Amino acid sequence: MQANPRKILIIEDEHDISRILRDYLVKNRYEAAIAVNGQDGLQMMDMLQPDYIILDIMLPDMDGIDVCREIRRRNNIPILILSARGNDTDKVLGLGFGADDYMTKPFSLSELLARINAHFRRYDSVTAEQEHPHLLRLGNLQIDKKAYRVTLDGNEVSLSAKEFELLFHLASHKNQVFSKSQLLDAIWGYAVYGDENTVTVYIRRLREKIEADPSHPSILKTVWGVGYKFNHE
Ligand code: CA
Repeated sequence: MQANPRKILIIEDEHDISRILRDYLVKNRYEAAIAVNGQDGLQMMDMLQPDYIILDIMLPDMDGIDVCREIRRRNNIPILILSARGNDTDKVLGLGFGADDYMTKPFSLSELLARINAHFRRYDSVTAEQEHPHLLRLGNLQIDKKAYRVTLDGNEVSLSAKEFELLFHLASHKNQVFSKSQLLDAIWGYAVYGDENTVTVYIRRLREKIEADPSHPSILKTVWGVGYKFNHE
């Protein structure tokens, strides 16, 4: 099920930039609205309740930094600042006006989109963990500890109990590297006498079930000479 599209408010007085930006965001399944100055931006923020704000620092009526401060005073949503090259960047970064990120003009649309997507992904995984502690949502993979159920892009993945436990263990400590003997101990509980090849075999099976290309895994990564980790930004 597709959630409602995220709303992004663009506060930018240069029409060429704001229109290109709006069209690009809409094409990429966001809702987008444009405010042409600071006052307008603050009003539209209260009216539209956007999920994200792109804010140009050079506005005709107000200093963008004041606008940023004012947004932050009212609201917790992510703010990405646009600034001209070399201009104000240090100020924006150094003085903590509550912006989450900034980009220098001219910027690449795909880079901007990647950053916005990353903000939302981080936000979503934090929210999901708070609301459903038994549910891990990592990229297109969802792991339900209560139901022992894994879905990939919404499709159920059939796993044995040990495969499930191994995946859940790695996923709930994302980016942490575990040696084979640590995994053997955690999942099978017999590190001392166990055969570490068991872990290798189970990792291979999991990769065949959840990786797009099991021979070049992007989720269950091998860390050479150490072990395995669940890779996630
Ligand atoms: Ca401007």
